[in-house]
Amino acid sequence: MKVLVINCGSSSLKYQLIDMETEKAMAVGLCERIGIEGARIKHEVEGKDKVVIEEPMKDHNDAIRLVLETLVHEAHGAIKSMDEIDAVGHRVVHGGEKFASSVIIDEKVMDALNECIELAPLHNPANILGIKACEELLKDVPMVGVFDTAFHQTMPKENYLYALPYDLYEKYGVRKYGFHGTSHRYVADRVAHMMDKDLKDIKIVTCHLGNGASIAAVENGKSIDTSMGFTPLEGLMMGTRSGDLDPAIVTFIMEKENLSLSQVNNILNKESGVYGVSGVSSDFRDVEDAAKSGNERAVIALKGYANRVKKYIGAYMAEMNGADAIVFTAGLGENGIETREDICKGLEGLGIEMDFEKNKVRGKETLVSKDGSKVKIFVIPTNEELMIARDTVALVK
Ligand code: ADP
Repeated sequence: MKVLVINCGSSSLKYQLIDMETEKAMAVGLCERIGIEGARIKHEVEGKDKVVIEEPMKDHNDAIRLVLETLVHEAHGAIKSMDEIDAVGHRVVHGGEKFASSVIIDEKVMDALNECIELAPLHNPANILGIKACEELLKDVPMVGVFDTAFHQTMPKENYLYALPYDLYEKYGVRKYGFHGTSHRYVADRVAHMMDKDLKDIKIVTCHLGNGASIAAVENGKSIDTSMGFTPLEGLMMGTRSGDLDPAIVTFIMEKENLSLSQVNNILNKESGVYGVSGVSSDFRDVEDAAKSGNERAVIALKGYANRVKKYIGAYMAEMNGADAIVFTAGLGENGIETREDICKGLEGLGIEMDFEKNKVRGKETLVSKDGSKVKIFVIPTNEELMIARDTVALVK
């Protein structure tokens, strides 16, 4: 079976064609600058040279059309005909409380997705456009929606409710939803596999540290708590997002700086985090370089970042009464050797003992704790696309 996995952003579209016999990607690509000048597709097929094709794409329909054309292209295609695509799996950011697992997309699901737009106005509309474009261009091919929020729907109510007037939850769905669920689920699965244990018998703290970052407490295979909240702004300090802060700061700075709602939103989402504190960049590589050359704010940003991750690890171990494993994933989690070291240093009292030699790895599935460490520490590259494809196969079979 061959599954096309689609991940639509507002002006970009990532895709993978996965052969489910081998679970290997046959083609991987990205359409950029959809709807704006300079649109292009970057496309790579196993065993062939990577190609970049510049072609105008006025909307997501054009983008999907170009993806399909490129996939069957004589020279740089991966398949001979579109008929070889057996199913499509779509990443959907927000499923609200309506979706606790992946679903086959039908009319009812589309209605429910539209109702979730209010909760993710920046993300869900693009996801919906991608689904509609595929519906049009791949008429009878079954499609599945896989939600970033679904894995966290197992959180108990006391963990997902904010300490706000209850009617705000009832009226507007103001509660913690959590994100990166597909990634947390994937790495938790891998940890169980690597420990040769049943997921139902272990407790894991999963750390997804990318541009956006979140941590989850996974007990018996279920997410019981996670650091992102109503939106992906809560929790850790991130590349450009503030993460947790005193909510009174929001109204305070609005008043002092005479900010509109969108301006304050922009500050919290785009001008804060590691970038805001360091003033250097949102990319850890740049901030690490600046710190090494003596930039004090860069040093503080890195220390602050690691300390916040530490605090969540501690909190989630307290919530689960311990943990069997901690796992690091996503851009920084997979590659940030020094960041992982900074996070784990000083956690020995909790039974977390990193082997600093073993930790010198990037982007490889590895155990990086000392032999006797009570809590195992893993680095596991995430693979959300494969998880989406697996869910798709399970549902359409
Ligand atoms: P996204 O959330 O956009 O998918 P990624 O998971 O790709 O993000 O993570 C991107 C981040 O990973 C970059 O901003 C960078 O800080 C970090 N990163 C990637 N490679 C390295 C590296 N070699 N060393 C340190 N940090 C890295």
